[in-house]
Amino acid sequence: MTTIPTHQTAACIDTPGPGAHLVLRNDIPVPSPVAGEVLIKLEFTGFCHSDLHNIDGDLHMTTNVPGHEGVGRVVQVGQDVSSDMLGKRVGVKWLQKSCMKCPTCKVQYTNCLNQDNSGRNVPGTFQQYVVSPADFVSLIPEDLEPEAVAPLLCAGLTMYGALSKLDKFCEKGDWVVIMGAGGGLGHLGIQIGKEMGYRMIGVDSAAKKDIVLSSGATAFFDFTDENLISNIHTLTDTIGAHAILVVVGSETAYEQSIHLLRPLGTLICIGFPRPDFHIPITPQFCVDRGLRVLGSVVGTETEMQALLQLARAGKVSTHYQVFEFQEINAVADRMRGYAVEGRAVMRIPSE
Ligand SMILES: [Zn+2]
Ligand SMILES: [Zn+2]
Repeated sequence: MTTIPTHQTAACIDTPGPGAHLVLRNDIPVPSPVAGEVLIKLEFTGFCHSDLHNIDGDLHMTTNVPGHEGVGRVVQVGQDVSSDMLGKRVGVKWLQKSCMKCPTCKVQYTNCLNQDNSGRNVPGTFQQYVVSPADFVSLIPEDLEPEAVAPLLCAGLTMYGALSKLDKFCEKGDWVVIMGAGGGLGHLGIQIGKEMGYRMIGVDSAAKKDIVLSSGATAFFDFTDENLISNIHTLTDTIGAHAILVVVGSETAYEQSIHLLRPLGTLICIGFPRPDFHIPITPQFCVDRGLRVLGSVVGTETEMQALLQLARAGKVSTHYQVFEFQEINAVADRMRGYAVEGRAVMRIPSE
């Protein structure tokens, strides 16, 4: 077992705000796992757009270490944790912990109001060592590349969790539209939805057409196409799709999505436009058409493990680029300009 240093390197954000820079520090104490926790030495972390929202001050964070797509190995266990966990490769996700006691947790613990989130209120994965409750880390199969797994921990799981909510309302062969289908979440959503048996329609900018179609979409539409709505209706029995997932934080995407839903259709909200934006839908429109509007955040551990099995079977693969940890501010700037192809994954220095 490697010796655990007393201090470590982390990318810290001191004052969030538009265009804020992360500071690489090497004087951050390595935490010790308390009862029920494990200490993980991270190998890679994904860089999610919601980290960027945290850094840029759009979302409120109370820790100065962002990051919530971490992959590494357990190097120390706290009291009450089996030593079998030592050396295991695990994933650290956005949902660091739920209370598991409240009425919400009994139904869907991902929506617990008493949850901790990596990189929001507890230190995230932009560092070499992180502690996490052992019950909330995801065991990662050894035959998967850790850098390819990182984006599945938030982007992939978010799509798997959202698409799984359609089980109750949709059947195989139904039409499912993803607004923002060519991004980090969207291209995984197209692959996962196709595996679940849906016919996937991807909407994004023209530059994303190839990644959307190569991910397995039946059709691609440019969101700037003035005939977008009528073209999608033509493809979907002239009445619209069974479900629409909006993964981008775009007001236009939400406005378009209402007109793309067929009667009895389901809209799933995932991406955040500005906080005071309201979905433009009247109660009467909702009543006449029997529409459902749902929100979805991340996914359960059962869903995470099902997704990892899809990855092992080669059915889901992430489009990603690996960057060195020292490049983190340049990567943030490229993400601000949407100039990273697929997901950015940071390699964490081993020493
Ligand atoms: Zn995320
Ligand atoms: Zn709870």
